[in-house]
Amino acid sequence: MKQVPVERNQTVRQQLLTLLEEDVLGVRELSQHLQITEKEVYSHLEHIERGVKASGKRLRVEPARCLYCDFVFEDRTRKKTPGKCPVCRKTRIQRPQFTIVSSST
Ligand SMILES: [Zn+2]
Repeated sequence: MKQVPVERNQTVRQQLLTLLEEDVLGVRELSQHLQITEKEVYSHLEHIERGVKASGKRLRVEPARCLYCDFVFEDRTRKKTPGKCPVCRKTRIQRPQFTIVSSST
């Protein structure tokens, strides 16, 4: 795997932070927008999650949701996307989405 210079890494993370402060986005959108892999997005998100606490904000995760029956994967608010719905067994799942909000909200 290619090594990404630290400087570029920080720039990408800053951009990611800015995007999430303005919008609610999924990992796919973020990876396309920043031209990094989804794996890299997850890695940045983990750092951001810890980092924003210091400035009184938090990373809010909108849980994955089944597009057929609206089942919400409440217990899976972390980053992994479930493969299929436990209720209707369909695989059209809205993936988790991320945004940065103030801790007080
Ligand atoms: Zn379902």
